[in-house]
Amino acid sequence: MPKTPDHKQRCIFCDVIYTPENKRSGEHIWPEWMHPLLSGKRKSHMGSKIKGRRDIQNRKVFIWPSSKKRAGDPVSKRMNVVCSGCNSGWMSRTESSVKPILSRMILGTPCIITEDEQTILARWSTLKAIIAEFDDTEHMAISGSDRNMFYQKQEPPPKFKIWIGYYMGNDLLPTYYNHQGIQVTKKGSSIPFSESPMFNTQATTIICGKFYLYLVSSSFEGFEISFQGFVSLQMRRIWPALDRVIEWPIVPEMNDDDARLVSNSLMPSLIKNG
Ligand SMILES: [Zn+2]
Repeated sequence: MPKTPDHKQRCIFCDVIYTPENKRSGEHIWPEWMHPLLSGKRKSHMGSKIKGRRDIQNRKVFIWPSSKKRAGDPVSKRMNVVCSGCNSGWMSRTESSVKPILSRMILGTPCIITEDEQTILARWSTLKAIIAEFDDTEHMAISGSDRNMFYQKQEPPPKFKIWIGYYMGNDLLPTYYNHQGIQVTKKGSSIPFSESPMFNTQATTIICGKFYLYLVSSSFEGFEISFQGFVSLQMRRIWPALDRVIEWPIVPEMNDDDARLVSNSLMPSLIKNG
């Protein structure tokens, strides 16, 4: 069960209560170093938030769409959920280590991404997914224990799976964020159907220029997600890593339809896992 910490009082990572010496501080989803690389007209912050649940008796998938369109420039948005000690310490080091790798990827500069660099990208991606979920607390599905595991070990928990792709569309440039939370239950489970279920599975999509990130986590034992058909050729899994090196740009690249298809992969997976 995800535990929503009181992030107005405590840091979501180290759990310290904010003090005048260690204040609550804000973290960007798209950090400041990245802003000059994100050219083009920035759209308002679109987060389509979809809830769904498989109905046990009828084996139907219920989907409750709810999307929020936010005013303002999304790249300037800060999530005030961490202490200044974490923000200026290990989180700042996470940004510094990913910067040379991600800068090339955002711009589409050809390069080789080693296994170590994939781990650095996966660490940064997990940090952003955890932080950004606090923008959608109603559909939060990353558990407090997974947040703690990430903080302690500085690597994504084993239940996290992370893919990247090379985005060459137009509609979602230069930044895009999508979060989906669902509840996966066992067949024959007696959990009553509810309008406000506890989510245990989430998918986060983040686009930074040509870099496409898709991260899925689930606390439901055995939950699997896989890509079918053409998109399976476009996505490379970086956590747990499958390839010793990834050539960038990834070929074939993703267009707008591919990008949306991957971002909405959670719902079809409900049926497979049902
Ligand atoms: Zn902290």
